[in-house]
Amino acid sequence: MVRKILLNPGPVTTTQSVKDSLVVEDICPREKEFGNIISGISDKLTQISNCSSTHYGVLFTSSGTGALESVLTSIIPKGKKILIINNGTYGKRLIEICLAFNIKFSTYDLEYNELPDLNILENEFLRMDDFYAIAMVHHETSTGLLNNINMICNLAKRDNLITIVDAMSSFGIVPIDINYGNIDFLVSTTNKGIQGIPGISFVISNISILETVKDYFDRTYYHSLYKQYKSLLENKQFRFTPAVQVLYAMNKALDELIEDTIQIRWNLCRQKWRILYYGLKKLNFEFLLPDKIQSQILIAVKLPSYMDFSDLHDYMYKRHITIYPGKSDICDNIFRLSVFGDIVPADILYFLNELKEYINEQN
Ligand SMILES: *Cc1c(COP(=O)(O)O)cnc(C)c1O
Repeated sequence: MVRKILLNPGPVTTTQSVKDSLVVEDICPREKEFGNIISGISDKLTQISNCSSTHYGVLFTSSGTGALESVLTSIIPKGKKILIINNGTYGKRLIEICLAFNIKFSTYDLEYNELPDLNILENEFLRMDDFYAIAMVHHETSTGLLNNINMICNLAKRDNLITIVDAMSSFGIVPIDINYGNIDFLVSTTNKGIQGIPGISFVISNISILETVKDYFDRTYYHSLYKQYKSLLENKQFRFTPAVQVLYAMNKALDELIEDTIQIRWNLCRQKWRILYYGLKKLNFEFLLPDKIQSQILIAVKLPSYMDFSDLHDYMYKRHITIYPGKSDICDNIFRLSVFGDIVPADILYFLNELKEYINEQN
């Protein structure tokens, strides 16, 4: 098997041991043995975000968007309103989910390169309207901007708002303390920072809020957060058939994450990012975001006018490197490179070297 270097922001490059853990004996997911794997995963999710006594890791078989849909449809009662902070493609996705399910919302819209302003948030939104909840993206994967969720959630908590965070491409990468950060519902997925295989998403959910959610809030059948929580808690079972093998791989990936620690992976991530950033700079590339709001998880790079993205992509792909286009709603001429997943500084140097070769061939 050839080792591929994925610089797309998930699914990421996984370790060989995570890939190997997919091959297991056939098992019925209603067996106790499997139930222990599932409840162990839920425990590990709250353990690594420091909220074991207050939150529960509710798992779903879906990509990350499924878990976003679950929390938004399950938590906001009919008639209550949510405030959505929007500064990128994934902020827009939260809006689209609310539109699809007829959930009342207002938006605090910003440019893709702008961080939310706490004064504006407080005076022009929180004071002016009666919100039940607030939702935001932590790491905007469309640009590489990292929103300051701690300060925003802290402010929202003063007004007793329920806080919902899409931490899809930051969970397991950046250390997150859910209680310190006042996060009631954190949504993520197994195939990004955790370094597992696609197919399972989760909502780390505040138990006391979840317990108040009744079935009549349900706008969804399959993705009911409350019913899935009850089933996992009381029976150690998914309500419906789970992605069994993906859960074994997720369990393995979580064990490896706990062994490495998020802090050490975060240090490594920033180290890889800096190698990439300075390497690209040396090759005269420019970036979409100003330095001081870069997440150091991913970088959006401006595509030089002489360069064709799909040609560059194919050149890299032949060399076992996968690069990723930009989001056209943000900016037409960018491409994106992320540095999380099981890749090492030498992989980044290999990419930069191939890029240099590519540029030389062009000229
Ligand atoms: C990846 C991602 C999602 C979810 O995408 P899926 O394809 O449904 O897994 C949502 N929000 C952000 C910020 C993401 O990076």
